[in-house]
Amino acid sequence: MKLSVVVPCYNEFQSLNKFYDEVNTKLNDEKITHELIFIDDGSNDDTIKILRELAKNDKNVKVISFSRNFGKEAAMLAGLEHAKGEYVGIMDADLQHTPEVLVSMYNKLIENDEYDVVCSYKENRNKESKIKKTLVSIFYRLNNRISNVKMLPGASDFRVFKKSVKDAIISLKENNRFLKGIFSWIGFNTIYMPYEPEERLYGKTKWSLFKLIKYSLNGLIAFSTKPLKLTFILGVITLIIGLLDIILMGNLGFRVVILFLGFIMYGIGTLSLYLSKMYDGLLRRPCYIIKEKINL
Ligand code: UDP
Ligand code: MG
Repeated sequence: MKLSVVVPCYNEFQSLNKFYDEVNTKLNDEKITHELIFIDDGSNDDTIKILRELAKNDKNVKVISFSRNFGKEAAMLAGLEHAKGEYVGIMDADLQHTPEVLVSMYNKLIENDEYDVVCSYKENRNKESKIKKTLVSIFYRLNNRISNVKMLPGASDFRVFKKSVKDAIISLKENNRFLKGIFSWIGFNTIYMPYEPEERLYGKTKWSLFKLIKYSLNGLIAFSTKPLKLTFILGVITLIIGLLDIILMGNLGFRVVILFLGFIMYGIGTLSLYLSKMYDGLLRRPCYIIKEKINL
């Protein structure tokens, strides 16, 4: 089998029939032998019903159903762990990622054997709100400055890659998973391809502003300990300012105390962030729990 397509689904019942028709038809037309691995990430709509129906009529439709919502990162991991193809693609279920782009990424990889990954990236974000655009831009600048893994702004999870890349991703056993960072960390030769995501036809985005911030923060601390080291530097700075204040003014100025408190709170906050991730890691809980598998 040539291509495994991994499709995380969270409350996507309205999109799934159309998604299946379009992707299946396109891959058949292109004579690309394939399997479609849908991961029902604890949906509370009719997602699993539709998937059962699709899997009944087509054995190349594989379904993994989670016991609850574990998030897109966990869903993608489960899909990769079950993929059998020589090549693997990841795409969203909501038709914002088109089969045409999937196939052109696949063809690009076939034509350029020295490359291992084709990654699509959003060239412009005109459709997005100003606040989201600003936050995204801050994230990439901050990340590329402090993190050990550099990321192309706008790079998405919509990618096609070789089996060897999939094996590398699975070999990382960390609990705090951030696939965009993992792709960058494992290396391999990557071709970047600009693309314009389609409008969402049904349902709505699962990413609230709060979720997006949490996700970005996770990504930052998964690949950099610089925020932690910064607390040490801030500590030294406050110590010097505090000492100077006492020596020169003979007292502890009010503003210095506030500054001092701010730095301490930043330090404790940052420590807690890393500590909580270490705690999660130490417990060694799996990234997801599977309730049901179909055609697998
Ligand atoms: N998704 C998921 N689990 C979640 C949230 C999202 O599997 O907890 C899936 C969702 O069904 C979709 C993909 O991840 O197929 C991308 O989500 P969404 O379209 O909401 O993100 P956006 O395109 O707005 O960035
Ligand atoms: Mg979407």
